[in-house]
Amino acid sequence: MGGEKDKGLVVVITGDGKGKTTSALGTALRALGHGMKVLMIQFIKGTWRYGELKMAEKLNGFKILRTGVGFVKENNLEESKRAARKAWELAKEEIKKAGYDMYILDEINYSMGFGFIDPEEVREFLESEKPPHVHVILTGRGRFREVEEIADLVSEVRKIKHPFDRGISAVKGIDF
Ligand code: ATP
Ligand code: MG
Repeated sequence: MGGEKDKGLVVVITGDGKGKTTSALGTALRALGHGMKVLMIQFIKGTWRYGELKMAEKLNGFKILRTGVGFVKENNLEESKRAARKAWELAKEEIKKAGYDMYILDEINYSMGFGFIDPEEVREFLESEKPPHVHVILTGRGRFREVEEIADLVSEVRKIKHPFDRGISAVKGIDF
């Protein structure tokens, strides 16, 4: 029993509804409350949210690294791929160092969906190289059997309604 409660979890937050990154941020707040340290690595800069950046500056033990380029487009596939690979290399290095208690790999699922990062590689790394006590949260649309097989927790956020459908774009405090 004793050891199990300190086990670091692999958490996947996926689905087509809004709330994946928000869920990871909520979990980060909870961990920070215990004095744990959290590192968030943003895989796609296009979805960067300045609210979180400002919050991270105010909180002890919370660091956010932006590594991606903008939204993935046809004319920047190579650049996007390089950026995703760089983010993944950075994530692996940081996780192995275990300088933080929780790692949020934000939007990494998109990078796997685009074929920039192989889900099998992610599975192997998390299975064999993640320090046992470290928590890793992976967010983004897309589901990957390899990762889900080794994950401890997989949640899907389903869209019922989104203001974007009525032409309302990103709202301050809600989306960024
Ligand atoms: P959030 O960061 O708000 O928790 P998310 O992580 O679930 O959102 P992403 O796929 O990372 O979603 O997309 C981020 C942005 O896209 C947010 O501004 C969000 O409101 C918007 N978004 C998410 N889901 C939808 C949707 N189904 N339709 C339109 N826009 C969406
Ligand atoms: Mg997100």
